[in-house]
Amino acid sequence: MLVSSLKRVRRRVQRLRYERVCARQPNPLAQHPGTIVTLFYDVEGDFARAGKTAVEIETLGRILEIEQRCGIRSTYNVVARFALEARAAVAEIARAGQEIASHSYDHSILTTLSRTAIADNARRAKQTFAELGIEISGHRSPQSDWDDRVLDALVASGYRWSAENGAEPYPYRIRRTDEGGLWRFVVAGDDWAYQASRCSPGAMLAQWQRIVRDAVAERRKNVAIGFHAWVEAEPGRLQALEDFFRWLVALDGVRVMPFGDVARAINQSKAPELAAADG
Ligand SMILES: [Zn+2]
Repeated sequence: MLVSSLKRVRRRVQRLRYERVCARQPNPLAQHPGTIVTLFYDVEGDFARAGKTAVEIETLGRILEIEQRCGIRSTYNVVARFALEARAAVAEIARAGQEIASHSYDHSILTTLSRTAIADNARRAKQTFAELGIEISGHRSPQSDWDDRVLDALVASGYRWSAENGAEPYPYRIRRTDEGGLWRFVVAGDDWAYQASRCSPGAMLAQWQRIVRDAVAERRKNVAIGFHAWVEAEPGRLQALEDFFRWLVALDGVRVMPFGDVARAINQSKAPELAAADG
């Protein structure tokens, strides 16, 4: 009880602190005419919930087909140990032209680890993907639980972006370095209501659409929504996902891009990806 309320206080202080860091920086996408929507998956299988690896692998294949049908590229944050156990599935994601990033080495809750163990975790994840022939530049923390030590570890291992839950209105440099620093992308929503409140596929679809509609109405330049293949596996959910994607790609002023592409576009301002973006 005491531990969890301390944790809530710590998270609140951290949130306020970084909202101020964001507010002191200009919106790097200010010149972009529309809203960039980033869709991502946390790929974790057994490392998040026992017995889910098989269904995760099967559903990933179906999601890749849906994204191909809709012409969507997104980000797959993969647990490195999962990638070792499901090499063919992860190779398939890379072959499909999707971005692969890290969801930690083993889905440890990073803030519960020592500083050294956090640094090891970030380094081993990056190394593991490199050994699989996949160069990654981004990270998302399990349970979106992060702190300054996590940011330090990401910078030390050469990560370029991190995506975590929050309310900051645009991407910002959460750490500055000579190489350009670490970008923070803010996650606005996910598919967790399926697990937490047995939300129906129709209600879930409406929730995702509302996030995007609100972002467009508020002229936000970037909004991110996350999914889990193993959560999407239940009846009716993949259909709702495809309905969402079809609605999204038909929406005026909206462009769908993986985190890594957005980070690259920001780093090389006037990047062709953004210059070519529609209004
Ligand atoms: Zn996770």
